[in-house]
Amino acid sequence: KRTPLIAGNWKLNLNHLQSIAFVQKLAWSLQDARLDFRTVDVAVFPPFTDLRSVQSLIAADHFPILFGAQDLSEHDSGAYTGEISGAFLKALDCRFVIVGHSERRAYHHETDAIVGSKAAAAIRHGLVPVICVGETAEDLETRGASAVPVEQLGVALEGLPEGADFVVAYEPVWAIGSGRAATPEQAESVAARLREVIEGAMGPDAAARTRILYGGSVKSDNIASFLREPDVDGALVGGASLVVEEFAKIARFQ
Ligand code: 13P
Repeated sequence: KRTPLIAGNWKLNLNHLQSIAFVQKLAWSLQDARLDFRTVDVAVFPPFTDLRSVQSLIAADHFPILFGAQDLSEHDSGAYTGEISGAFLKALDCRFVIVGHSERRAYHHETDAIVGSKAAAAIRHGLVPVICVGETAEDLETRGASAVPVEQLGVALEGLPEGADFVVAYEPVWAIGSGRAATPEQAESVAARLREVIEGAMGPDAAARTRILYGGSVKSDNIASFLREPDVDGALVGGASLVVEEFAKIARFQ
């Protein structure tokens, strides 16, 4: 069985000082609650400028919390002002990196092909890409829920080597920050289709092993219903990941 992953995407929130306080409080809260870290992976995705602080704190105190970045460059080095390479993230002990979040697709014009290059760059540097896919409200109306996510994931997997370790996050754009989460049944039906895409592109072992997260208005009071679905293996949480006690509750969904 796949270990659930509860991931907090901080987006453009919490500076490096706030990130230290947050991670300390989160770790203490989970330890107080006696969370068994063998049964769930808990990860935070702070802004780039927080990563060094988070790395140092987690290493110094041996907190069993994982972390990653919210984006990376598809390039490894060179004349790309403002970009951050996978090598830099790996050197900061990042385990994960989000690629293709809908906000980057919408505001930074990231195409499926760019997202695919970023996923490949992550793998090249020993990072686990969290590949985000999801349909807009308009896509949902015109093409149904799964057509766009299936297409997006298909392209993203094209450049990945056999045996690559990755995570998929299904985030319907209409559910993000709207307070209107998908139903567990909707999430399951798309997740099951995405698992078939993984099987087709990467084989049955990859399909059985790969974690598929749901994201979009996840809260402590709906997390358990998503995790009960057979193809949903965790959550990518935005707003609710910024409140320590709420995110800790989500991590203790059982
Ligand atoms: P919300 O949890 O705020 O809806 O955001 C979801 C998200 O975009 C996580 O990446």
